[in-house]
Amino acid sequence: MRAAANLLAVLMLAAAVSATAQEKHLIDPTPPGSLNPEPLPPLQNPDAPLTPAKELFARKPTPFPGPPRSIGGYSDGCLAGATLLPINGPTWQVMRLSRNRNWGNPHLIRFIERFAKNAKKVGWRGLLVGDMSQPRGGPMLSGHTSHQVGLDVDIWFTPMPDHVQSREEREFSSATDVVAPDLLDVDPQVWTQTHTELIRTAAQDPAVTRIFVNAAIKKALCREAGADRDWLSKVRPWYGHAEHFHVRIACPADSAECKPQPPPDPSDGCGHELDFWLKESTLRPPPPLIPPKPKPVLTLAGLSPACKQIVKAP
Ligand SMILES: [Zn+2]
Repeated sequence: MRAAANLLAVLMLAAAVSATAQEKHLIDPTPPGSLNPEPLPPLQNPDAPLTPAKELFARKPTPFPGPPRSIGGYSDGCLAGATLLPINGPTWQVMRLSRNRNWGNPHLIRFIERFAKNAKKVGWRGLLVGDMSQPRGGPMLSGHTSHQVGLDVDIWFTPMPDHVQSREEREFSSATDVVAPDLLDVDPQVWTQTHTELIRTAAQDPAVTRIFVNAAIKKALCREAGADRDWLSKVRPWYGHAEHFHVRIACPADSAECKPQPPPDPSDGCGHELDFWLKESTLRPPPPLIPPKPKPVLTLAGLSPACKQIVKAP
């Protein structure tokens, strides 16, 4: 019964996002960055109540000082006391430095350090780290609805090169799309069993609650997981995520204002949920008869009052 209710929730959610999915379901390339990012022009009237919160958070280049706090939900929250992930670690490198999105709750930083080390043990040379959060978290001008509380990280499916990359390489090289052109399975030219072990390693970390991948990747994981399958419940299909996977960790115990997400369905998700995602009408939905209403813009009123204080502070 619970599985049926969960599937219904997935279907409803999927219908709600299918309009945006049409542009995003094929591929989700990370756009190239810039070697000389221009600062954003100041807002005319930043205190206007209808000012999108993303405009305010995008203009904060430094974290809010003090103890680390993830405040609110993954898609409606912010972050205080953020830590910067160093751009070069023993087994990771940060990409797209111009975005200034390699900030996170210290628990996320520790997870990435741990994961990079464990991934090496299963044969993955090193992680290429994409977006984490902005210095004060919050909504972003491009790319995500989540990643707001410093507990989400995107990891590229491209293994780390054997050298420390230049700024140019980090800004302009593109991530490997591992999904086959028909969207029904992974591309055997690029997908390897080590990719499965990489995701298994992330999923088995006790801090991780969810991992989002393209449905074609989930299908490959279901096939290649073998007898040890408990971790598959954390890996859920989503639109895009063909070039990177998205790892979410739980609300840390020391972030009392963090809004946790209910745990994923305990099943391995390899049955009818996956069938739904791989249906023609999900992969290539027909254009909607009525254009969908634009989503309301998130303003500071939609976030916890603490987030207002955090984004307004100098
Ligand atoms: Zn992500």
